[in-house]
Amino acid sequence: RQQHYAAMREVEPITRDGTRIVVLMNAGLRDDTPMLGLTGADGIGLFRTEFQFLVSATLPSRERQTRLYRDVLDAAGDRPVVFRTVDIGGDKVLPYLRHNDGDAEENPAMGWRALRVALERDGLLKVQARALLEASGGRTLNVMFPMVTEPWEFDAAKAVFEGQLNFLRQRKKLLPEAIRYGAMLEVPALAECLDVLAPKLSFLSIGTNDLTQFLFAADRANPKLAERYDWLSPAILRFLRRVVTTVAPFGTDVTVCGEMGGRRLEALALLGLGITRLSITPAAIGPVKELIRKVDIKEIRTAMDGWLAAPPRDMRSTLAEWAFFKGI
Ligand code: PEP
Ligand code: MG
Repeated sequence: RQQHYAAMREVEPITRDGTRIVVLMNAGLRDDTPMLGLTGADGIGLFRTEFQFLVSATLPSRERQTRLYRDVLDAAGDRPVVFRTVDIGGDKVLPYLRHNDGDAEENPAMGWRALRVALERDGLLKVQARALLEASGGRTLNVMFPMVTEPWEFDAAKAVFEGQLNFLRQRKKLLPEAIRYGAMLEVPALAECLDVLAPKLSFLSIGTNDLTQFLFAADRANPKLAERYDWLSPAILRFLRRVVTTVAPFGTDVTVCGEMGGRRLEALALLGLGITRLSITPAAIGPVKELIRKVDIKEIRTAMDGWLAAPPRDMRSTLAEWAFFKGI
């Protein structure tokens, strides 16, 4: 089986009707980068920068952050890397950073986390911005912000980067060749204002792990709720299709970077919604590429349109049967 997936490394993820799907991997540590070569991923679609903070006993210095980002970019070579600014708080608590003045939060997932922390403690974001900008000198920086809830938060986070960019420009440092700013769609409220945000974005990345827990009001970390929702539920699929339709006129790249995209039937459903970019866990890359090569996008799109117009009672079995019938 391992040999089989190793063989998938060189295989291009092209659908039967000729669409090249972009298959990226999720990562968070320096040690993850060899997986790029092993899986044949097109790049890193989500680099979770908070991992360095979580495995460290103290706040990582700017120098250490810069070194990590540079090492990751070096390892990726020509392949793009999308760095996500720190998503701490929620389930990722740092012992050396005081959260909410020591008060435990009742709902940490919906609490003071991610961009909310970064915009308030903007010293943290400034340091990270400097580190990312310096590490990207002479190349492209792709950076995205987690848990954007309203468009102004994207503007504020981007302004922090632009401020640091000016600082580096004045010091005649080597600047990135290009900077692409993106937002993560994880909070359903953002979907209602996407037409406002999309023109400002270089790309949008849908974090389906958080998005679905908020959409269903069901804690992603609570095993008692694991059966409460299905990634293939019509509510999620309709929601995602609306997002794709809303940003399409702006030509914004849309990637799904949650775990959903790494599962066979879910990946099939995403192709049926018009998603052509996935960022998934390295172990899923071989199996998902294999799936992609068996799919005819036009067929799954037509089928999906029908199911979403009149949802079957059990979307999962319906899709599984369809896939079986199509030899997928
Ligand atoms: C997500 O929420 O889907 C996501 C990709 O981010 P994380 O899993 O790190 O919260
Ligand atoms: Mg998330």
